[in-house]
Amino acid sequence: DIDVCGPLHVFSPGAHMQHLNDYRLTSDLREHLEELDLAFQPQFDLASGEAVGVEVLVRWDHPELGTIGPGRFIPLAEQYGLIGTVGARVMDTALSATRDLVTPNGKPLSVAINVSAQEFRDPGFPERVSEALARHDFAPERLELEITESSRVPDLDRVVERLTGLIERGVRLAIDDFGTGFASLLYVRDLRACRLKVDQRFVGSLDHDARDRAIVSHAISLADSLGMEVLAEGVETAEQERLLVEMDCHLVQGFRYARPKRLPELVGWLKRKPSIHPCP
Ligand code: C2E
Ligand code: MG
Ligand code: MG
Ligand code: MG
Repeated sequence: DIDVCGPLHVFSPGAHMQHLNDYRLTSDLREHLEELDLAFQPQFDLASGEAVGVEVLVRWDHPELGTIGPGRFIPLAEQYGLIGTVGARVMDTALSATRDLVTPNGKPLSVAINVSAQEFRDPGFPERVSEALARHDFAPERLELEITESSRVPDLDRVVERLTGLIERGVRLAIDDFGTGFASLLYVRDLRACRLKVDQRFVGSLDHDARDRAIVSHAISLADSLGMEVLAEGVETAEQERLLVEMDCHLVQGFRYARPKRLPELVGWLKRKPSIHPCP
C-alpha cells in the first residue's frame, strides 16, 4: 500500500525512454550506493545570528552523469523500494561525519536529516535510528528528523506512537515544506514536532506578496502558541531577512547565508566562526 502514482501506461516513445532511464538510473543506484555523498547546509538562529545546526542533503556523484540532485533520484528510490537502504546510508554517513562537529561557539551542532514518509511509516525505522545513534555514540538531542508532508500518511497515529521512544530520548521532529502538502494542521496537532520549516515558495516572494507575509506570520504565531519554532527556508535577500526579523521568525536557512557544503568545506567554514551578523 504505497501512495505513489504508478508510471503512465501510454505508449509514447518519450514516456518509454523516460521509463528506461529511470530503470537504469535506479539499478545504477542500487549497485553503487557508495557514490552517494552528503552536503550540509547551515541553519542560523535569527536573533543571535549564530549557526546552530546543519541540514543534511544527499547528492549522487555519478561517474558519467556528474552530480545528480535528490529531486531526481529520491522519488525513484521511493518508487522502486530502495528508499530504506538510501535513508540508512544517509543516516550512518551523516552521524559519523558530524559527530565531532560543534557550533562556532562550541555548543553541540544539531543535525537535521530528511526522512521520506515511506521510511517513516516502516515499523523498523525507530529501531534503526536508535541503533545508528548507539553505533556512533551520537547524542539524541542533536538529531532532528525532517518529515515532508508531501505524501499522505494514513496511519499517522501509529507512526507517532512508534516514535515516542526516540522523542523521549530527545530526538526532535520537524515538519518540512510546511504549508505545501497534505494535512499540515493534522501534522502540527499529532506529530509532536518542535519545528515548522516554512517552504521557500512562501519565503521567496515575501518582499512583494502580502499573502505570503500573512501566511508566514501566521505560521510563526501558530508555532509560538504551541511552543514550536519556525525555520524559514530558502532565504536569499536582505529584504526577506528584514521581514523575517520583523515577524520574529526563529531560524533561517538559505543561499543568503550559506550554500550546502561538502564535509571538508563545512569544517573549514565552521572554524571561521560564521554569523549572520558579522563583527565589524
Ligand atoms: P528540502 O528538505 O526542503 O531541502 C531544501 C532544498 O532547498 C535543498 O535542495 C537546498 O539545496 C535548497 N535550498 C536551500 N537554500 C536555498 C535558497 O536560498 N534558494 C533556493 N532556490 N534553494 C535553496 P536539494 O538539496 O536539491 O534537496 C531537494 C529535496 O530533496 C529536499 O528538500 C528534500 O526533500 C529531499 N532530500 C534531500 N536529501 C534527502 C535525503 O537524504 N533523504 C530524503 N528522503 N530526501 C532528501
Ligand atoms: Mg529538508
Ligand atoms: Mg523544505
Ligand atoms: Mg523543499
